[in-house]
Formats: sequence, C-alpha cells, structure tokens
Amino acid sequence: MRNQRKLIAASRYVQGRGAIALLGENVRKLGKRAYIIGGSTALSITEERIRASLDASGVDIAAIDNEVKDCTYATIDELVDKGKRTEPDFVIGVGGGRAVDTAKAVAWKLGVPAVSVGTQCATNADGSAEFVVYTDDHKFLDAVILPDNPAVVIVDTDVIASAPVKYLIWGMGDALTAKFEAEAHAEAMRRKNAMVPTNTALALANATFESLMRYGFEAVEALKRGEHTDAVDEVIEAVKLSSAIAFENTGCALAHALHNGLTQTGKMKAEHGEIVAYGTIVQATYEGRPEDEIRAIIEWCDGVGLPTKLAAICDHDGEALRRAVEYACGEDANAESMPEKPDPTKVLKAIGRIEEGF
Ligand SMILES: [Zn+2]
Repeated sequence: MRNQRKLIAASRYVQGRGAIALLGENVRKLGKRAYIIGGSTALSITEERIRASLDASGVDIAAIDNEVKDCTYATIDELVDKGKRTEPDFVIGVGGGRAVDTAKAVAWKLGVPAVSVGTQCATNADGSAEFVVYTDDHKFLDAVILPDNPAVVIVDTDVIASAPVKYLIWGMGDALTAKFEAEAHAEAMRRKNAMVPTNTALALANATFESLMRYGFEAVEALKRGEHTDAVDEVIEAVKLSSAIAFENTGCALAHALHNGLTQTGKMKAEHGEIVAYGTIVQATYEGRPEDEIRAIIEWCDGVGLPTKLAAICDHDGEALRRAVEYACGEDANAESMPEKPDPTKVLKAIGRIEEGF
C-alpha cells in the first residue's frame, strides 16, 4: 500500500489538578471490578483518593498490589495469577514507568483494558501500547508491543507537581528530542518508501518542543519554590501527552542511538532523559542545523538543569567514546531512522564541537 499512515493513542486522557477524583467516572464504562497495581510510594500518596473516586462511581476493588518494584517477567506472572483468581474487569497501574508498564502487561495477559495513573513526570509510558521488561538487576531485557493502548490515562498534576522536580527535568530531557528524532525518522521513511509518520504526529513533536522551550524553565523554577503554576501543567501535558503520541507514532533516531551506545560501552552517571537531552544536542549539531537553533537548545538545557557536556553524563575516554559512537551509528536499530546511515567520524566531530563550546 502506497503512502500508508497510522496513528495510535490512548482512548482517553484526563489531566488536571485533582484529576484522580475523576478516575471513577472515566473508568466506569470498563466494568465494575478494578485490579490496582502500583509501587508502595505511589500508592501511599494516592490510594485513599483512588478508593474514594472508584467508590463514588460504584466500582469495586477486586484486588490491590502495592509492591511493584520493577517490570520483570516474574512480577508479571505473579500478578497475572493473582488477577486470574480475582477476575477484574480492568487493571489500573499507579506510579512511574515500571508500575504502569507492569499493569499494561498484566491487563493484556488477563485480556482486559489497562488504565494508567501516572504519579511522576520522568516517563511518558502512561498511554503507550508497549511495556519494557527488565531483569532482576534492572537491565533492559525486552520491549513488548501490545495490541491496544490503555483505555484511560489519568494525570493528576497536583500529584506530579509534588514529586521531586528531578523527575520533571528528566522527562523534559527525553521529550526534548521528539521533534528532532521525528523529523529525521520521517525523512528516512520517505526515502525508503516505507510507512511515513502522520503530519499529526510530527505536529505534536513540534508542539512538544515549543511547549518545553516556552514553559520549561518557568516550570522548574516554580517547582523549586514549591509553587504549582500554569507552566507546570503545560510541561506535564507536553511530556505526558504530546511527546508520548509523537514518540509512539514516529521513531527514535540518533539521540537515542547515542544513548544506547554510551550505556552499552561504559558506566553512566546520568539518567535516561539527561543522556537523551545531550544526544539531542549531538543530533542537531550532526544534522547541521543553524547555530542559533543549537545554541538556544544548549541554553535551555543549562537553564533547566539538563547536561550539555559529556563529562556530566559519563567518563568515556577517547576509545570508549569512539566505540559508543560506532555502536550508535551501526548496530543500534535507531540509526536506521536517520535519512542516511550516520557517519561515526562526523558524529565525533559534532561532539567535539559541543565540548569546545558553541
Ligand atoms: Zn527515551
């Protein structure tokens, strides 16, 4: 089929201050029995409000598990067994990426819809039709694609604004790259005559970038002062909704490939979103984007507290860096999303330029 396009997303996204109160009325149509899965910290903050909201809508809690630590196959199997005994109509995942991913996996295996209640902003996994599985010592194992996205995503910005500000910063770092990787991916797919991303997804990637540039610094400063301003809500939507749909409906490219190369070849001292933010600066430089545009991204990263120098994310020396870049440009699948196969020497040159200071 020529010029085929597709867009997938969660069926319903509800964001707001106190949005957990709207959980019950938004899941009622899914059935009467909820199975709640979450981490202990996330549920200690939200369980009372979740119970009150479900109760007000006549939804019973079939089972609750508040000990999810990581999305491993052992955890998924254990929770699926528990689910089979209690016969829920749907599963609610409460917490960060690990909890919502586990809940999506369990819901899928039970053959019921998934609902996500995100409690921090480092992840945009809430609405995606995918879960990432780790080993017991939290090493990446698998990314499993699901047939359906979650039915409902609830984002209570009061809860997210109360979480440590570092989560929001990491989430912004990951979302920053959406525009750059989406544009590279779109061009690569066009050249290969493969399925191209929708203009809708590209527009959302761009909207994510615009929101981050406009509101990111203000949001971080507000949260540091302990204030929940409108800028915080704008950034939360950019990370949790627009970047999520953009990522899921386009593709990762050099920024994530570099992340994977660096994490493969040495020890990192930064989080996923921080490494990806640096990778975004590298990709933009490698692509030969205008210097003003790159300088604006670097300034923004400095302002919000994302790394702009290699030393802030790892201690890779010359040889380890070369190996990381070679991995990123060759073995990593995301390299395929660049319009032309990335050239390691040119990527190293881009890194050199960033290290010297633009
Ligand atoms: Zn990422």
